[in-house]
Amino acid sequence: MGGAYNRGMTALTSVATAALIVLAVAPPAAPDMDGSVVGRPLFFFPYADGYAALIGVDLEAKPGRTPWRIGFVDGAGVPHQASGAITVKTRKFPVQRLSLPKSMVDLSPANESRAEAEATRLHALYDTISAARLWRGRFTKPIATDVRSEGFGFRRIINGKPRAPHSGVDFAAPAGTPVVASNRGRVALVAHHFFGGRLVALDHGEGLYTLYMHLEQVDVGEGSLVERGAIIGAVGSTGRATGPHLHWAAQLRRARIDPGALLTLPVGD
Ligand SMILES: [Zn+2]
Repeated sequence: MGGAYNRGMTALTSVATAALIVLAVAPPAAPDMDGSVVGRPLFFFPYADGYAALIGVDLEAKPGRTPWRIGFVDGAGVPHQASGAITVKTRKFPVQRLSLPKSMVDLSPANESRAEAEATRLHALYDTISAARLWRGRFTKPIATDVRSEGFGFRRIINGKPRAPHSGVDFAAPAGTPVVASNRGRVALVAHHFFGGRLVALDHGEGLYTLYMHLEQVDVGEGSLVERGAIIGAVGSTGRATGPHLHWAAQLRRARIDPGALLTLPVGD
């Protein structure tokens, strides 16, 4: 095992729920990097002078140890292996109490089955892992505004009942404000959902998706490849929204991560 990268790995010991982890491996890391986390494969990409893989920790991950393993054969034919565990700690999120119209909370049987079918479709999408990494370099905010994103992870109590935590961030912005692709990706879904309203899901490859909800309009079609910063639609208040805003979410191989973590990913252009 290479001393340099071993030190780098053991530095990574503890993270919070909803975190995005960069598992970096210094030289002599080689292009045929192989690895897994909790038995699921890792995808490596060139990073600094070595390689790295992204690991997402779900918003509601149970605290505890997450084992990882890597292996590679260096340029001189020498095999290297390392393994360890990351301890996941629970991040505390604020509790938010909301009052919404009864029709948006206590759904009719028709709306209930619609919302369920839409959730199933999204989960099936997130389970689809495209082999090629499409994203390149740093991620950008999906909206050009000074308004701070807020609300990630909020434990929601809607009309007095605990509901699913808020798994994205909200940018309050006037209707019609352009929404851009946070990074390069393929338009994997354009739809109009009961909760999410008019939405776009971008597939950035290797199991990473970003999701843009409540749009007033969508300017891209399914299957098209969009570059970072390309306009994909405009802010609206479609679906379950109390006013115009962009709900932005990210998933990495089914882990609901804080999309804000993408913006601070230590990658260069
Ligand atoms: Zn939201």
